[in-house]
Parts: sequence; structure tokens; C-alpha cells
Amino acid sequence: MCGIAGYSGPKNADQVLILALERLKYRGYDSAGLAILHQGEIHLRRAAGKIKALSDKLESFPVAGHCGIAHTRWATHGAPTEANCHPHVGGPDVPTVAVVHNGIIENHDALRRELQALGDVFSSETDTEVIPKLIARAYTGDPEAAVRAVLPRLEGSFAFAVIFADQPGRILAARQGSPLLIGRGKKEYLLASDVPALLPHATEVTYLNDGELVDFTAETCVITTFAGTPVEPKFTRIEITADAVEMGDFDSFMAKEIAEQPVVLSRLLESRLAGDRLVEPDLGLDLKAVNHIVFLACGTSWHAALLGKRFLEQLARVHVEVDISSEYRYRNPVAGGDTLVVAISQSGETADTLASVRMAKAKFLPVVGLVNVVTSTIAREASGVMPLFAGPEIGVASTKAYTAQVLALYLFALQVAKAKGLLSREEELKAIVAARALPDQVRRTLAAAEGPVQEAADLFSAAEATVFLGRLGEHPTALEGALKLKEIAYVHAIGYPAGEFKHGPIALVTQHLPVVCICPQDAMYEKMLSNLQEVKARSGRVIAVGDGNDRHLQDLSDVVFPVETPLDPLLQPILTILPLQRYAYHVAMRRDCNVDQPRNLAKSVTVE
Ligand code: GLU
Repeated sequence: MCGIAGYSGPKNADQVLILALERLKYRGYDSAGLAILHQGEIHLRRAAGKIKALSDKLESFPVAGHCGIAHTRWATHGAPTEANCHPHVGGPDVPTVAVVHNGIIENHDALRRELQALGDVFSSETDTEVIPKLIARAYTGDPEAAVRAVLPRLEGSFAFAVIFADQPGRILAARQGSPLLIGRGKKEYLLASDVPALLPHATEVTYLNDGELVDFTAETCVITTFAGTPVEPKFTRIEITADAVEMGDFDSFMAKEIAEQPVVLSRLLESRLAGDRLVEPDLGLDLKAVNHIVFLACGTSWHAALLGKRFLEQLARVHVEVDISSEYRYRNPVAGGDTLVVAISQSGETADTLASVRMAKAKFLPVVGLVNVVTSTIAREASGVMPLFAGPEIGVASTKAYTAQVLALYLFALQVAKAKGLLSREEELKAIVAARALPDQVRRTLAAAEGPVQEAADLFSAAEATVFLGRLGEHPTALEGALKLKEIAYVHAIGYPAGEFKHGPIALVTQHLPVVCICPQDAMYEKMLSNLQEVKARSGRVIAVGDGNDRHLQDLSDVVFPVETPLDPLLQPILTILPLQRYAYHVAMRRDCNVDQPRNLAKSVTVE
């Protein structure tokens, strides 16, 4: 959460930094600010609200200079006001030091009291402000020495960047827990929390590891450990293009990313299939020996993990546990030598999942990362990586990464089954044909469902609650459909295993409650029809997700979201979630919500 950017080079720093913040806004967007070095002074511009408020301010109060740092905030300590907005400063009278920070300084209270006793006056409620105050006190002309002196005093997780009024063109940054990368362009260096913010200026990137400090100007870049040991930077070419992080003709990144799903799934299949054979990902593991798998994930990735469990149980007969990373990391889980940990995170930076990965590694368990960002910390720290190749996902509500995760887990389950001798050649061929048919089915389902989805959004966008019901593979779909509606439309929603409905939630049914029943033509179809009848009998309103030609569904529902039937029933959840993504989007639009920047949320949750 929160985006950090820095620039030193020949261009106007404010323009480079505003574009970088735009590219990072998915990480936080409650306030934004920058600090530019010019003629021995630090010039601050800060504004509460969206980045537009900051660029408006820059238009009224322009700032010159070729070196600066910037921040888009997701508040942890202190309301999203201008006073709490980064950068924060330190120095006796005028600012001598300015800092932007991502993460939480857990001992900020004690540090603040110590600094106040020495006479420092704080102007914000943030945990961050102790950093520039400490650095300013430690500074005697050597920036690296000052930062190094302060680092051991900071507890918690952080990435921060700092500039000094009397160090023209120079930026220092340190990483302990939150991502930070350095881009190299033509006679210019940049700093950012994520690759898109380096575009279009940088052509190469290198990643800071935890415990490392960078000190750069427009022409030099020196990386050392906190203790001072030199680290040789390894710059690699940036693979993504600026187009991939633009919205194009769509009105939101979410709409764009939903529409991209057929292409994303095709690309993933290409990476994992060679003709009519599965390609075993190079995980450095003997899949045959895996008898126990633990999936660790948060949010939408956790829903994908629930489907992963289903696939592995059905296809490979492997015992699987699905755990929420933020719970797992504080337990003392029992795990033996034949356990494989699979960490699922779109960004590969999710703080709780990363902490769980480190914990599993400390127990000598093999860890595979299922991530979209292959250069992320989880990808780098896991023993093996399964990439999604979904391209940058910028909309805060995950859509294309979710369906890609589900397909990747299906392919992984097939591979484990094959390694264990549980998948015949004929079954492998059938599964591959089913998977290859999927991208076109996704395309057709998105097109066919659009009309009914809009009709349902017209009918129910004012409803204050919605229940989603599904069973087996569609239970995760119900959870994910409910999460989408909560996240972007602010509608209270619950996803429930349909068999449990009568054990409580049925009491919620009135003529005002829409109930989304996910009932494709699968083994649970008849049971789901009974749920649907139960809702109808109590005057509830029904949206059914299933076969568009199904007479029963048509008779019993207010609206049917038609979805195709895949060749392998296990793949059905990839199709049933599609109209629910679009439903959340349309309800959000009708409620005037910003789907890409929903209230209180941010993507890439790098704080606990
Ligand atoms: N803890 C800091 C604050 O609340 C930084 C939060 C962030 O990562 O955006 O200002």
C-alpha cells in the first residue's frame, strides 16, 4: 500500500513524479504530495484527496527542479488530511530533510516522545514523521551516515526515500519489508514501489532487497546493505510497455481487465501447454512426493485457493489445507517434511502472505509462489514460481488475476495428478481440450451475460444487501461475487455455501433481498434449485447464474445470467464468476462509486 516515487535527471521532476503517482495510485489514493530540490531548498506540495488535487495545486503553485520524491498515501496513522500527507520534513527551522514512507514504524510513539523531549515539534499524526526528524538530527553533512545511524532505531516494516536540502540531485532510499525498485534511463535514475511508475523514462530496473540502502543521483547508483557492505546492482530490461498500464478505450481499469480475460487465459495456457501436453513448471520439486499442500492467501486469492483445494483433491487426491495468511503467520502450524506450501498473491508483495512464506521457509518447507508479478518479493523468495502472465492488474478489485489463478491451479492439479500416475494420457488430452476451449467460452459468456447483468443492476442497485449462494466449486464463486460487490459498490454482501442457507441466513430473505443463486448444470444443480425455490417461497428476489436456456431457472428467477458449460465441469467457476464481476461493476456505476479506487481500499497490501 502507498506508492513511493523518486526522480533525479534532466527532466522536470514534478512532471515525472506526477505521472509516476498516477501509475501507483492503485496502491493508495487518499492524499498525495511531493518534495522537489531547487537551489538548496526543499519545496513541498501536498494535497488531501486524489492525485488530481495535487496536480491542480502544482498548476497554481508551480515548482522547478530536477530531483524530488513523491508519495500517494493509504493512511495507517492519522486521517487523510493535508497535514498528514507525505513528504514529512525535519530540520531546525527550514526543512533540511524530506521523507516519503510506505509501511508502519511500530515504535513511533516512543521515538516521538523522545524527539519531543529534545524540542522537536511535530506537524502530523503519522508514524512517518519520526523518520525525517531522526535523520535531520543525525545529519552532519554525510547523508548515508545519517540514514545508517537511524535505521537500527526503526521497528516495523518500511520503504522510505529521503532528500537533503544541501545535496542537489541526490536521493537515498531504504527497504525493510515494503517493495522498492530503481529504474535506469538516459542520464537519469528513478525510484518507485512498482515497475509501471518507472515508465516511460526507465528502460532497466533493479530491485532492492530487505536490508538494503540505495544512494543515487542522475548518473550514479550505489547500493549497500544497512551494515555498509556493497551490493552489485543487477539491472534487467523492463518488459512491460507503457500501453499495458493505460486504460485505452475503457472507462476504468476494472472494465479493461474484465474484458482482457480471454487473452489472459490464452496466454497462460500457452505458457503451460506444449501442443497437446502439459509442460511441467520448473519448481525444483518432485511433485510425485507431494502428499500435503497448504495454500496461503488473502482476499480474492484465498477464494482461488479454495478452488485449488477442490482441483487437487479431485484430480490428484492430495490432502490440501487452505489458510488465510494473516492467521497462519501467528499460529504454530503443524507441518511435516512432505508438505508443500503454495503462496498465492497477485502482486507477490502481500505483507501477510510474504511473512507466511518466510515462516514456512524457516520450517524448511518448500514454497511455491503463484504470483502475477514475477519480479516480486514472494517470487524471489519462494523456491519455485508459477507465473500468471496476466499483465499489470491496476483495478483494485481483482478480476483477471483471479480467473488466471484458478486456471493456473487447475493446470497445477493436473500436473500433480500426472506426476503421481493418476492422470491417463486420454484424461490429459481431454483436460487440455477443455482448457483450450475456455478463452472463447469466456469471451462468449461475457458478451451474452451483459444485457441481463445490466437489467439486474437496474433492478437491484438500490438494495442494501445481497446474498450469494453456491455449492462445491461455486461456493468460492459465491464468496468472490460477494466480495466484488462489497469492495466496489459498498453493498453489504455475503457468500454462503448453499447447503448452509437454511441454518441461518434464510432468515434475511424478504421481498427486498436479492439472492444470487449460482446453479450451473453440475452435480449440485437439483439441490441449488431447491434453494432457489426456498427463496421464491419467501418472496425473495432471485438472480440465477446458469444455463441461459434452462426453463426452470427462467421460471424461478427475476433474471438469469447465462453462462456456458465448460467441457470439464471443474472449470465452471471460471465462467460463473464473469457475470458477477460485471454485476458488481454495473451496480457500482449506478451507485456513483469509483470502481478503480474504492473507498478505504488499496491494492497490493504491503502493511499488516
Ligand atoms: N504509515 C504511514 C502513514 O500513515 C504510511 C502509510 C502508507 O504506506 O501509505 O502515513
